[in-house]
Amino acid sequence: MKKAEGYLYSNENLNLNPKQDEFRTFTCTHCQRVVVMNSMRERPRNYCVKCDAYTCDYGPCIQDCTPVVQMIMWGQGNLLEQLATERGLI
Ligand SMILES: [Zn+2]
Ligand SMILES: [Zn+2]
Repeated sequence: MKKAEGYLYSNENLNLNPKQDEFRTFTCTHCQRVVVMNSMRERPRNYCVKCDAYTCDYGPCIQDCTPVVQMIMWGQGNLLEQLATERGLI
């Protein structure tokens, strides 16, 4: 029967990636951006020893311990504005 074959075929497709939706997110401890953890990723994750937490791939977040509070103290207004715009705060 054609219908039965079709059913089996689509059922196989559904089981191709059983772990596809098993992904987690974390919040960058420096800019508070939410990052999706890619299970296929081979590079090591960025980790800040001072904060004891993960950071995103964004330049300033990796290079130094630059939490949002410190960015404000240092007067890095442009960066803050950019981050705020991305998160829809402005
Ligand atoms: Zn960050
Ligand atoms: Zn830090």
